Amino acid sequence: MDRRKFVKSMGLLGGFVLSGTSFAGALAGKEPGRKLRYGNHANSDWEVIVIGGGASGCAAAIAAAREGARTLLIEATHVLGGMGTSGLIPAWTPFSDKDKTFYGGIAEKVFKASCKEVYHPKQADALPVDAEVLKGVYDEMLAEAGVELLLGSRVVEVKNKTEKEIGSLLVANNTGLTEYKAGCFVDCTGSASVATWSGARLLKADDRVEAGFCFLLGNVDFYSYTYHFRKHPKATTETIKQLVHSGKYPLLKESHFENQLMHSSIVKFRASSVYEIESSEPDSYPKGLARGRAIAQQVLQALKEYFPETFAAAVLINSGTQLELSVPSRIMGDYIFTKEDFNSHKSFDDEIGCRIPYRILTPVGLQNILVAGRAVSADADICESLGTMSACLVTGEAAGVAAGLLLRTKTKDVHAMDISLLRNRLKEEGQNI
Ligand SMILES: Cc1cc2nc3c(=O)[nH]c(=O)nc-3n(C[C@H](O)[C@H](O)[C@H](O)COP(=O)(O)OP(=O)(O)OC[C@H]3O[C@@H](n4cnc5c(N)ncnc54)[C@H](O)[C@@H]3O)c2cc1C
Repeated sequence: MDRRKFVKSMGLLGGFVLSGTSFAGALAGKEPGRKLRYGNHANSDWEVIVIGGGASGCAAAIAAAREGARTLLIEATHVLGGMGTSGLIPAWTPFSDKDKTFYGGIAEKVFKASCKEVYHPKQADALPVDAEVLKGVYDEMLAEAGVELLLGSRVVEVKNKTEKEIGSLLVANNTGLTEYKAGCFVDCTGSASVATWSGARLLKADDRVEAGFCFLLGNVDFYSYTYHFRKHPKATTETIKQLVHSGKYPLLKESHFENQLMHSSIVKFRASSVYEIESSEPDSYPKGLARGRAIAQQVLQALKEYFPETFAAAVLINSGTQLELSVPSRIMGDYIFTKEDFNSHKSFDDEIGCRIPYRILTPVGLQNILVAGRAVSADADICESLGTMSACLVTGEAAGVAAGLLLRTKTKDVHAMDISLLRNRLKEEGQNI
C-alpha cells in the first residue's frame, strides 16, 4: 500500500485535528526575553507555514515573520540549520571579492554572526562552518523574529483545497498526527517534497544520486597538520593514493579525504561519493549514513597508520546525521535557471539577489506555495551553485518576504506577485540587487 492510501485508510485526510500539540517547555535564548517559541500550535490560524529548517527555511521564516505574518516553521529533526548543522558541511562559499559583497540581507547577517567566533586560518580560501555556532545563530535569529517552531515534526501529507491551492498539511510527531492550515506555504525541504505531494511538476530527478558525508577528527597535531600534511599537498596526495590502493581499507577512495582545519586541533572531512542513494527505497538513506560512518572510521585508522606525526592521537568526534545529495529533486518553476544564464551573468527583471530570478521559486500550476533552497527550478548543471548555503539563504529570504507580502495584499497567487514591491522590500533589508 502506498503512503497516500495508507494515510487515507486511517481516515486521516478529512479535516481533523487528532491531537493537540504540546511541545517541551520553552528553551531560553542567550539574552533575557529572547525565548525560542514552542507552543500549542495546532489550532492557531497560521498565515505562513515554512517546511524545513535548513538555511532556506530559517531565512524564509525570519523574513515572513518580519513582514508581519504569523509564521510557523516545521522541521523534522530537533535542530535548525539542515545540512549546515546536521550535515556538517565544511565551508561558506566566498561572500565577497575585494570590491563587492555577493550576498546581502539575511545571508550576510547569518554569515557575519556565525563567523565571529570561528577560527579562520589565513590559508583557508573559504571560511569553515562551525555547526555549533551556526545552531546558536539560527536559534537566536528565529526567536528574535518571532517565528514559532515545531521541531521533531515531519510533514507527511498535503491536503489540497483545489487542484491549485494547498489547504493544510498533515504533520507527524510524538503526539500523533495533526493537521495544520495556513494561507501560504514555503517548501524548504531540500527535495520539494511538499510541493510534489500537492501536485507540482518536477524537473527530471535522478532515481539514484551520489551522497557525500562529513565528519570531524579531533586531537589532530596542529603543527604537523599545517606544516607537513597540508604544506606538501603532492606528497600527501601520493601517500593517500598508496593507502587507498593498499587493499587494507576496502571502503576508501581518494575522494574521502577532502579536509579543512576548523579549530587548532579539529579537522573537518568531507567524503564525497560514499553511497548511491536509491530515492524510491526508504532504507537507502540510513544505509548511506551507516556507510559514511564506516568510511569515517577507516579514514581515521588509515591516517593514523600513514600519517602518525599528524593523526596518531586523533579521534572521531562527530559525524553528520544528514547526507549531501548531489542532484536533488527540483520543481519545474515559471523559469528554469540554466548554466548558460549563470555563465553569461544574465540579468533578470525579477532578480531577488545574486542574479537569481523570482520565477524559479514559483511551481507551475500551484498558487499558494513557494519553493526555496536546493530544490528551486534549475537545470542539473547549475543546481549545485544555487544549492550552496549562501544562495539558499537568498532564495529563502525572497520566498519569505514574498509570502508575507502576498498575505498583506490579500492575494494568494505566488505567480501574481508585485515584483517591484518584493524587490524594494529585499533592497530595504540589505539584499544586493
Ligand atoms: C556534496 C555536497 C557538498 C556541499 N558542500 C557545501 C559547502 O561546503 N558549503 C555550502 O555552502 N554548501 C554546500 N553544499 C550545499 C548545502 O549543503 C545545501 O545545499 C544547503 O545547505 C541546503 O539548504 P536547504 O535549506 O535547501 O536544505 P537543507 O539544509 O537540506 O534543509 C532541509 C531541512 O528540511 C527538513 N525536512 C525535510 N523534509 C521534511 C519534512 N517532510 N517535514 C519537515 N522537515 C523536513 C530536513 O530535516 C532539513 O533540516 C554542499 C552540497 C553537496 C551535495
